[in-house]
Parts: sequence; C-alpha cells; structure tokens
Amino acid sequence: MPMPLGHSAIGFATHSVLSNGKSYIDRWKITLFIVILSNLPDIDVILGLIFQNNGSAFHRGPTHSILFAVIFGLIFSKFARLLSIQNMDFKFCFILILSHVVADHLLTSSPVSFLWPFEVYFSTGNAGWGQVLYTALFDAANDAAIVFICVFILMLNIVIRRTVQKSHSESQ
Ligand SMILES: [Zn+2]
Repeated sequence: MPMPLGHSAIGFATHSVLSNGKSYIDRWKITLFIVILSNLPDIDVILGLIFQNNGSAFHRGPTHSILFAVIFGLIFSKFARLLSIQNMDFKFCFILILSHVVADHLLTSSPVSFLWPFEVYFSTGNAGWGQVLYTALFDAANDAAIVFICVFILMLNIVIRRTVQKSHSESQ
C-alpha cells in the first residue's frame, strides 16, 4: 500500500502536471504543502493511535472521502493565500488530497470511504505505534515503483512542455 513516500511522489507528479510543469523544488512552502496535502487523509492513523492505541481504528473512514477533500481543500487554499503561496488554490488542494484517496483505492485491496457520510469502510485489524512506525519507515521500499513512475511522469511533463514551447517560439 502506498506509504508517505509514494503518496508524496504522486502529489508532486499531480501538481507538476496541473501547474504547467513550473518548478517548485526551490520553493519549500509549495513542497511542504504538497507533502502535507497528499498525506493528509492518513491523519486518521495518528488519531486512532492517540485515542485508541490502534492506528486502524478510524483508518480509511471520513478522512478518505470526497467531502473531506472539499472541506480541507478549502481550508488549506485559504491558508495558502494567507502565506502567499502560488499555485495552491482550491482546485490544487482538493486534487492533491483526492490523489491520496484515489491512490489508496486503486493500489490497495481494502476499500476507502469515497462517499462518506453515505458509506463508510474502516480498515480492519489492530496496529499499535510500533507497527505503524515500522510500516511507515520500512515498507516505504514497496513504494519504489510508484516513485519511479512519478519521476517518469514529472520528466515527461517537462520534456513535452519544453518541446511545445520550443516549437511555439520557432514558429514565431
Ligand atoms: Zn490513506
């Protein structure tokens, strides 16, 4: 299943495609926003650990829904405007959060709660602090394929845009 590393890579690729391939690596605020937003739904793991000592208790419930992406997309886009971060309007924030839910849905077998509050699927099992930390740190190796594909998309995006720009300026 995608871990923070995989979700962040998907977030970077998504943002790059949506923002016309503009470079953001030197802009640490945008980078931080992408990492936070593309992992935000998994805040339910931390809440589960704090309140029930079980990371699976609330996992894949309300935070893995379209409604959550709408509400927190709005909140974070307002926040981004306050911090004058460019390319982080509601559309970007919403899609970055949703990219997490879509990735969980497509890349894993257990369901997400897309249409919460009309449907809700909590993940089963019991995961304490140790297991969650171990998974986040060491299962990240499984995300290598996702990272590889996302880096490929990022580079392809840059190459396509440069080619288009070049042919555009040559035709002028
Ligand atoms: Zn998740």
